[in-house]
Amino acid sequence: MGEAGGRRVSRRGALVVGAAAGAGLVVPGRAFAGTPPTTEPAPPSSRVPGPPEVPGPPQVPGPDGVPGPAAGAGARAEQVRAPYIARCAEWGARKPKYPPKIWDQRPIRILVHHTAGSNTGDFSVPAAHRMARGIQNFHMDRNGWLDSGQHFTISRGGHVMEGRLWSLGELNGGRRVVEGAHSPGQNVIAIGIENEGTYIDVDPPAPLWDSLRATCAYICAQYGIAPTELYGHRDYRNTICPGDRLYGMLPRLRTEVAGLLGRRLSRKEVSKAAWPLLRTGDSGPLVEAAQYLLRDAGTLHGKPDGRFDERTRSSLTEFQVAHDADDANGILGGESWPELARTVRAGAESDAARAVEVLAAYRKVESVPDVVDHPVWQKLLGTGGSPASSAEDPPGVLDR
Ligand SMILES: [Zn+2]
Repeated sequence: MGEAGGRRVSRRGALVVGAAAGAGLVVPGRAFAGTPPTTEPAPPSSRVPGPPEVPGPPQVPGPDGVPGPAAGAGARAEQVRAPYIARCAEWGARKPKYPPKIWDQRPIRILVHHTAGSNTGDFSVPAAHRMARGIQNFHMDRNGWLDSGQHFTISRGGHVMEGRLWSLGELNGGRRVVEGAHSPGQNVIAIGIENEGTYIDVDPPAPLWDSLRATCAYICAQYGIAPTELYGHRDYRNTICPGDRLYGMLPRLRTEVAGLLGRRLSRKEVSKAAWPLLRTGDSGPLVEAAQYLLRDAGTLHGKPDGRFDERTRSSLTEFQVAHDADDANGILGGESWPELARTVRAGAESDAARAVEVLAAYRKVESVPDVVDHPVWQKLLGTGGSPASSAEDPPGVLDR
């Protein structure tokens, strides 16, 4: 998931961008008929949110002017087999504090998380259900959220479970999405999948990987999401999640999901533009460049030395607080990089220009474009790839 526990409503909620624009009609949950769409927690209902009917079998949306599987998932999308996904009632979920909101729009990407919990050797179904209940308790009782934050959960044994109530029914319907709380700015336009374990130093076990691949393919097919649109939490937030190893496997995941959808992706499509994750203990030219950018922003003092130590961590945190970051935690990831890496023009004398020089020398780049914008920064940082959409949630998302 991430490092930050309590959340506040994201300032990004004020933005309407990209594919989500204009599509955000809110409808109340079916089993809570009569509950008005609200941005405030409703008082606990005395009615139990009984299982909404699950639309099925999976239907491929028709040519209604809205992008369907044919637009992104691939030609064989309608043949993708649904993995078995245990509903909330099956793993013993609690009733949400109030009904999740359902948005009348399709998500456009998938965000991969790791739970940052232990790498258990118990691959059983009871262990999977216990884990899902533990996450739900943590999200409801510690984070104060209405229910589990993620849409789906996969255990190390490969058991796939519904996360937030109604996520499975809406997925099977293929037209609407339950509002999640897995990453501010990405809670409606992205489906969040929590993968049990910590994948900083080790790869996920095969059963988990196989289920993740099958689940992503099914989600892509149902919602018409292209297999290139699989990302890690760190692509949008300042977080280690989903761990260096699992994050590094995303190109392979895109390739394998595309295969299940009957598509082939080029090497260029498989690699997406991103930002390098930097944190305490890192060193080298990328850190030195970040330090120049922090000095440019006025929060780092003294000479950049390429060491991500306490001085760098505290100056980054100061920068993040000043920019109202959701995750002001001293980790430099996909939330703060776009704000830190400001546009630099040829001939400019500044610490930001020095950051460009440090990276150009490191990459042995002979000439740098006159305007160094985000794509150029990403190339210099070594994380360039095919463009990633920066679309974020429409206004009105609770992030809880
Ligand atoms: Zn995460």
